[in-house]
Amino acid sequence: MQLTPMMQQYMEIKEKYQDCILFFRLGDFYEMFFEDAITASREMEITLTGKNYGQEEKAPMCGVPYHAADSYIAKLIEKGYKVAICEQVEDPATAKGIVKREVVQIITPGTVVSQNMLNERENNYLASVFLHETGAGIAYCDISTGEINTTQLTSAGYTERLLNELVKIKAKEVIANDYANLDGFIDEMKITSGAYISILPDQYYIRNAAEEFILRQFQVKSLKGLGIEESDLSIMALGALLAYLFETQKQGLSHLSYLNVYDTAGHMSLDKATIKNLELTETLFEKKIQGSLLGVLDKTHTAMGSRKMKQWLREPLNNLKEIQERLDAVELLSDQILLRNNLKESLKKIYDLERLAGRIACGNANGKDLIALRNSIFVLPDMKSELAACGDSFLEKLEEKMDSLSEIYDLIDQSIQEEPPFTIKEGGIIKEGYSLDLDQIKHSIKDGQSWIAGLEGTEKERTGIKSLKVGFNKVFGYYIEVTKSYFDLVPENYIRKQTLANCERYITPELKEVESVVLNAETKINQLEYEIFLEIRKKIQDYISVIQITSGAVSTLDVLVSFSEVSSKLGYVKPQVNKGDVIRIEKGRHPVIETTIKDGIFVSNDTYVDRKDSSMLLITGPNMAGKSTYMRQTALIVLMSQAGCFVPAEAAQIGIVDRIYTRIGASDNLAQGQSTFFVEMSELAYILNTATEKSLIILDEIGRGTSTYDGLSIAWAVVEYLCNSKYHVRTLFATHYHELTSLEGIMKGLKNLNVDVQEKDGNIIFLHKIVEGSASRSYGIHVAKLAGVPASVLETAQEKLHQLEATAVSIDLDHYEKELLAEQSPVKEETEQISFFSFAPNPVVERLKALDLMNITPSQAFGILEDLKKAAEN
Ligand code: ADP
Repeated sequence: MQLTPMMQQYMEIKEKYQDCILFFRLGDFYEMFFEDAITASREMEITLTGKNYGQEEKAPMCGVPYHAADSYIAKLIEKGYKVAICEQVEDPATAKGIVKREVVQIITPGTVVSQNMLNERENNYLASVFLHETGAGIAYCDISTGEINTTQLTSAGYTERLLNELVKIKAKEVIANDYANLDGFIDEMKITSGAYISILPDQYYIRNAAEEFILRQFQVKSLKGLGIEESDLSIMALGALLAYLFETQKQGLSHLSYLNVYDTAGHMSLDKATIKNLELTETLFEKKIQGSLLGVLDKTHTAMGSRKMKQWLREPLNNLKEIQERLDAVELLSDQILLRNNLKESLKKIYDLERLAGRIACGNANGKDLIALRNSIFVLPDMKSELAACGDSFLEKLEEKMDSLSEIYDLIDQSIQEEPPFTIKEGGIIKEGYSLDLDQIKHSIKDGQSWIAGLEGTEKERTGIKSLKVGFNKVFGYYIEVTKSYFDLVPENYIRKQTLANCERYITPELKEVESVVLNAETKINQLEYEIFLEIRKKIQDYISVIQITSGAVSTLDVLVSFSEVSSKLGYVKPQVNKGDVIRIEKGRHPVIETTIKDGIFVSNDTYVDRKDSSMLLITGPNMAGKSTYMRQTALIVLMSQAGCFVPAEAAQIGIVDRIYTRIGASDNLAQGQSTFFVEMSELAYILNTATEKSLIILDEIGRGTSTYDGLSIAWAVVEYLCNSKYHVRTLFATHYHELTSLEGIMKGLKNLNVDVQEKDGNIIFLHKIVEGSASRSYGIHVAKLAGVPASVLETAQEKLHQLEATAVSIDLDHYEKELLAEQSPVKEETEQISFFSFAPNPVVERLKALDLMNITPSQAFGILEDLKKAAEN
């Protein structure tokens, strides 16, 4: 049997878009068929029906109205599907035969532009990864704002750094070449990035084609101008990204015009564990903003400012000049409250300029968007004049970057109605006085419109029908409605058109004549308004890059104002940042915990760490005393300083850090099939292999995931490795292994700190105060008591503890010390192994060793065995 012509057309199009759900436009609906319909009806929770398509069985089918399609598409995108939008590309009224249809756009998680599908405070990144045996190229963009970046990683450990970058970028979708399939790396990318990942076929990775795409997109003659002529990996990643965009978007990428080529060394590098552990932009488990550093610092007034703040926190600076610029600007904004308040008022009135520019470039902007653009531009001159001579060079530079965009303001102000509709095809957008042609047509129908408007009154009077009404609907056009009780008064020239329960609807020849003039003119007006609107939008497209530069300056200002606002409110101070090695914090506080603490006040603490005598702070103290809080607060204060924010302390001196590493808590990665201990050791390996003399390491309870001796040995070896390494990396190390505290004075740079607790009547009170020296004990049972563990369990634990303490094998530190001193050199080769444990001789073992087995009888042997057993039991 033959397929119906429409289904034939459907099949031909679907053939080309196998990996997408095809939204096939049929009149006012998008329809889906076959497998697509089954999947979509399940995922979107809509009814599955069937359609005759020329075969015996019906084709499974489901559909959604075109005007509500966004929310349905959003559901599919969220679940990782791709949606191909197939439109009617000719007017059905004039089409001969079947209406021509084409796929006009493919929507994927990383290429969403519709406002309804985007989170305004978050970028929607699409990342492209090109992996090779020599390194990795990354390119990523947000087509809703026009941002596009690229970098490449070539040095050792590039795969790990690639994963770190992906965590930082937090892309919604990642595309990669087939090489990423090797050794299951793609799964690792999936788990670490949480993005939808697809492997693209080889034709996306042809060097010449990639180059051509890039030159065309950025309208340059050579790659040199872009600064990537020697970055083969970047070129491949970027080429594939652009090819993918052309394929999915088909048009409207002109706003991706400025390529940002970055070097990961240009920022403080944060590995994936650190970004998560320090809860920079979301909490570790619940993934909420509230409870994260962003939750405290983000008081931005614009969505683009909020997005930029996220970037700044994930990418703190490591260039002193740039850090200083931000800090100085924040200082001025903190001091000049009036200036800050005025800027705040202006910022509140600015819409998401970046995304408005994106929508204008993609051809998605409507009349409301243009009014939002005009209203945002309105405040720019004020903002510029506030900043122009404010006395801070960075803020003044921002002012120079802001364009007052007065041409666009005038254009929109003269042309677009104050409250335009959402649609752009149904008129009501263009202001009177902007187009002579439009005004003339509008004028020509004024008489007809007012005749219709007055018809109800005149007819009521003429006929005496009090309930007479004039109405309009799409099927019959204008009509005169008369209720039942007045039927006998209906005049002869009324022609009946429709009968309803209680009334009849009529037309008159005269009414139809006027209606035809009015409706024809209205169609013309709508068409003309649409054309004029497109012209205006096109004119604005010429200013996209100016709008983008302006919005970049506005969002930076927004973040700085927010930093100063929070700093003033929460009593932060300006840190003294320098290129030295010392981190000195006086009365530091944890920025998040101090705002969430329920009972009592946050206890501030000092930190001093350098690369000489205090490079390794060994922190002991019971659980819940505040060790993690103290270490995190140090890391966060460093990070905030380098992001350009003031810090929660009375004073802070920060020697710039190139990387912060954290190994905090037990982050199980069972999804990846790795044990907690394996993850812990992998993270540790990464830290020890890549930390530099400028790094800061935070280690919390290293070695806990294995047996006590194993764990203690590993922790000990790590302390020794770090203290002896030539870098003397600044390290904060919290541990339960009290044995390690004996290393103070032996290990170069090691300082013991502990968190003070008070013991009273068998209970402990946490003072949260960091003091010098080591903790005397662990107080584990006290903490268990506080947590409500039953008394009988606590008693048994206490008994067991006494027994264990009495029989514990002690570690002979004297021996170790002697060994070290004998070597005369505190700094050892990094690879050298030393036997740092030496246990006190065990009498049982010693006696066994001394036995001469050849010269004792079996009964003597039994006697000795009995003695040994007794000795062991004691
Ligand atoms: P530890 O790492 O020693 O087990 P945490 O750092 O996790 O302890 O702290 C436990 C809790 O103690 C925190 O959640 C917080 O409520 C409180 N706390 C920690 N440090 C302080 C402080 N400096 N001031 C007040 N409360 C604190």
